[in-house]
Amino acid sequence: MYAVWAAGVLVVLLGLALGSAPYLFAEMSAWLEPHAIIDPAKPDLGEGRMVDDYWAVQNIDANTFALGEPRYYQANYAYLIVGERRALLFDAGSGTRDITGVVTSLTHLPVTVMPSHLHYDHTGGIAPFRSIAMIDLAETRADITNGRFTPGRYEYLGMIDGLVPPTFNVTEWIEPGTTVDLGGRTLRVLHVTGHTRSSVALYDGATHQLFAGDFIYPTTLYAFLPGASLSEYLATTRELLATLPVDTKIWTAHCCRLHERTSAPWLTMTDLRDLNAALTAIQSGESRSTGFFPRRFPVNQQMTLATGFPWSNR
Ligand SMILES: [Zn+2]
Repeated sequence: MYAVWAAGVLVVLLGLALGSAPYLFAEMSAWLEPHAIIDPAKPDLGEGRMVDDYWAVQNIDANTFALGEPRYYQANYAYLIVGERRALLFDAGSGTRDITGVVTSLTHLPVTVMPSHLHYDHTGGIAPFRSIAMIDLAETRADITNGRFTPGRYEYLGMIDGLVPPTFNVTEWIEPGTTVDLGGRTLRVLHVTGHTRSSVALYDGATHQLFAGDFIYPTTLYAFLPGASLSEYLATTRELLATLPVDTKIWTAHCCRLHERTSAPWLTMTDLRDLNAALTAIQSGESRSTGFFPRRFPVNQQMTLATGFPWSNR
């Protein structure tokens, strides 16, 4: 009798674990994948320059700077996009080091920071900013308490590195599909669900630059954490392929390209097309994965896509 009862409890626990795998993985990540936060070694930059022992700065054109954290274990890149009247900082850095000094060394214009999404490696450095823009969605509005914004536990995911979500004032709400005018330069704000529900990309129609956040980047795409969705990933790739010019250059938020030294990571519309094909093959069951959780699927030479179970990241 006891054995039947124990087996029943085990089945229920296993079911709960499989059902909530993205949440369980996030909560247990520090223990499952222990890692150093900062690499003590000097970065091997292929392009750009170190401005101190931490920040890598690269001019990707006359008015656009990539701000890299090559020694941070996730090798994040934020982008400072400068107009004639104001500048937009796309992502605030991980917060491992203060980003404001390097930003003010590059522009004297007022700077607004806008996160590509709410994960800790993109918003960890947001607290010192006074001008903060946010995509206007039901889920981001829901993070307001007493007029202040705090990302939810599973939107921020700071538990992975023992970090507490920041609380800040949102000074500008931007509706998806609308443009931000920086003076002589406009950026279209695109809602790109897939990696998270509130992910944002910025498109500069004059230069054909897409700043993609974590929607697409070289190395392993994460589509297995809470809020990630394969069907939304696929819908967004279709939408971007249908609306962006074929010569769009995609600037991404994590380094590095295969067999290349550290520099601002970029991809092309061909990579986006490969991602679309990979997602289509995964959804139709034609693609083979390796691993249990996450399952890893091939995309192309530059990318692998890691996702959860069909029921957890549908
Ligand atoms: Zn990221």
